[in-house]
Amino acid sequence: MSSYDYLVVGAGLTGAAFAHEAKAAGKSVLVIDRRDHIAGNVYTREVEGIQVHQYGAHIFHTSMKNVWDYVNRFAEFNNYINSPVALYKGVTYNMPFNMNTFSKMWGVVTPAQAQEIIDAQRQEITSQPTNLEEQAISLVGRDIYEALVKGYTEKQWGRDCKDLPASIIKRLPVRFTYDNNYFNDRYQGIPIGGYTKMVEAMLEGVEVRLNCEYRDLIAQEPQIADRVIYCGPIDAYFEYKLGRLEYRSLRFETELLAEQNHQGVAVVNYNEREVPWTRIIEHKHFEFGIQPVTVITREYPADWAPGDEPYYPLNDAKNESLYQRYVELSKQEGSVVFAGRLGGYKYYDMDKALAAAFDLIEQELQVRL
Ligand code: UDP
Repeated sequence: MSSYDYLVVGAGLTGAAFAHEAKAAGKSVLVIDRRDHIAGNVYTREVEGIQVHQYGAHIFHTSMKNVWDYVNRFAEFNNYINSPVALYKGVTYNMPFNMNTFSKMWGVVTPAQAQEIIDAQRQEITSQPTNLEEQAISLVGRDIYEALVKGYTEKQWGRDCKDLPASIIKRLPVRFTYDNNYFNDRYQGIPIGGYTKMVEAMLEGVEVRLNCEYRDLIAQEPQIADRVIYCGPIDAYFEYKLGRLEYRSLRFETELLAEQNHQGVAVVNYNEREVPWTRIIEHKHFEFGIQPVTVITREYPADWAPGDEPYYPLNDAKNESLYQRYVELSKQEGSVVFAGRLGGYKYYDMDKALAAAFDLIEQELQVRL
């Protein structure tokens, strides 16, 4: 006899949503996490009244009404709109690429003038873009590519833009309007009181064990649950028997500063190759904080080695095919389902992670959210 209907491995958004719905459906659930806190990479910790995003900036945005309604059941969202600033050689440019950016770069005023310059610069790309460099030049021209894309992207991913998939840059909007909203989505905001509080609400009444490794638990209690929802890295589950999937990692350096307003905006991107960090986050601006002090975090991209936090999957052809082989293998694990950003080896935004969790919930629990 198993002790639980479900063991959920990982207390991030996917695990918390699944556990919440399983409990609501009358199932017994245990959630475990190897870390000493819930909320996975959206974890926030309060410092001097400021919610500090411990694993990098998380701005919730979605166009899926069911996902937006769902998160609003567990938190009230503020009206933050992400409008990062890019800094290149001492000059600030608005992001994403829009009329403010074009105007600062070329002195143009109208959309037609901006379009004309970009059209001229994209002439060098004569066929369908096959890599990030070609894709970026064809979207915004060479000047912006050189200043705002190349250095940032190459330090972020540790690879030449010619060796990166075009899909990465398609995440960013390009607009011929004076609109600095980083996202095109219908809904956007930050949970008031922090993401940890939101995930706490999702996990209310659910048994959670922190500092708990899946392998250790299963070694002690092989029959602990009928089914396992595994949100850790899929290759780790199989003890890397087909080889290791690759990731990109990050290192964060956080400082409390005795000043009220350090950079005037939540996110400043540092687009020069020579500056070792990609961005500085000033957390209070995510929630319009007016504290006399401030907390900033420098984000440094890092090569990933086994044991490091796997932040970004490297969805290139080689890793994708290895992942597919793990998927084949996983089909033999009848009672284990792989989910989440790590279990699915996907560069998910939070809303996409939740939408995938909803599919899983429907499949497992026959509940449609
Ligand atoms: N990017 C860029 N310049 C910037 C910001 C982003 O070239 O100032 C590119 C870069 O290739 C990056 C991609 O856009 O990997 C996606 O950026 P996003 O901010 O969405 O990444 P995330 O927040 O997920 O790290």
